[in-house]
Amino acid sequence: MIPYGKQSINQNDIDTVVDVLKSNWLTQGPKVPEFEKAISHYTGCQHAVAVNSATSALHIACLALGVTDGDYVWTSPISFVASSNCALYCGANIDFVDIALTTGNMCMKELEKKLIHAKKTQQLPKVVIPVHLAGQSCDMKRINELSVEYGFSIIEDASHAIGAKYRGDPVGNCRYSDICVFSFHPVKIVTTAEGGMATTNDPDLARRMQLLRSHGVTSDETEMTEPSHGPWYYQQTGLGFNYRMTDIHAALGLSQLDRLDEFIHKRHQLANLYNSLLDTAKITPLQQSEYIYSAYHLYIVQLRTPCVKTHRKLVTQLRANKIIGHVHYIPIHLQPYYQNMGFKKGDFPAAETYYRSSITLPLYPDLQEEHLEYITDTIHKILC
Ligand SMILES: *Cc1c(COP(=O)(O)O)cnc(C)c1O
Repeated sequence: MIPYGKQSINQNDIDTVVDVLKSNWLTQGPKVPEFEKAISHYTGCQHAVAVNSATSALHIACLALGVTDGDYVWTSPISFVASSNCALYCGANIDFVDIALTTGNMCMKELEKKLIHAKKTQQLPKVVIPVHLAGQSCDMKRINELSVEYGFSIIEDASHAIGAKYRGDPVGNCRYSDICVFSFHPVKIVTTAEGGMATTNDPDLARRMQLLRSHGVTSDETEMTEPSHGPWYYQQTGLGFNYRMTDIHAALGLSQLDRLDEFIHKRHQLANLYNSLLDTAKITPLQQSEYIYSAYHLYIVQLRTPCVKTHRKLVTQLRANKIIGHVHYIPIHLQPYYQNMGFKKGDFPAAETYYRSSITLPLYPDLQEEHLEYITDTIHKILC
């Protein structure tokens, strides 16, 4: 079977993990801050907060921005459910902004339209969470302009986009956002097995997220309500969680980060090969905007004519030929849990059309070029 995504683990990855296992610190040791520093350096942000998943990062990012009961949070319907669940964890209301069909990313015209309407009904969002689908950044400059005009905060869900660039700068530098979140799940660009990171340039947000990831507990006397009782003393000043990353995971992340640029380069090479081999009369890759450099987490193609039957046939027959084609994503508002909240079919038509026409083809650094040619040949046979 050729999977749609796969981690690439080398001897150095293994050795660095084994070194941690032999050290004094399995967790809360030096590797986590080292990994945070490396991510800050790579992305050019001021602060990076490591956690045990991107889902946790999204949750504490919302909390740090003050999302609470009755607030509105908006995200894209074409994403993994974690992008919207984070708002629900905080007791907030979730809503979606429809996508641009050709990129799968949040549509700026739809966002503006929805903001104008929300201003009239006094239901403006507290936070908007753009999702950089497949590794391609959303139009962050525009979202930032709108955030100034309408007064919302921005969390980038960059789970797909470490190593990507927006207008020449690394995604994660938070030039146009309050917080940016990365995932290190094995199908993503670099892995820590499970893990995530939140980057920000705001020291207060960083500190709030650090407290939230570890029980809301502080050992810093300046944050306490009374003088410290002694070197053992700590205070819980808020309600937090155990969302910590371990040193074992951080060590793997550090080793993987050394290979990030090489991974992205390889992903681009393979994506270009797909672009040159695919019969674009039938199937076209997602459009790439001119101001972005994608991390190519996913290689997504779209049927020229959306068709439930052809879409299903293509994915099913690819699998019969030992190729795991996938679909990213089922529109979140069509999930039963969200339908029970009142969302219904037809609410976000572009997302629904996108779902009927989009297929993810295998893409990962160790994918062999012969396999890629086999994949495109098989697609052409199925579609002929
Ligand atoms: C993978 C993913 C997440 C969740 O990441 P975890 O690290 O598995 O929690 C969130 N959003 C998007 C868009 C993702 O692809």
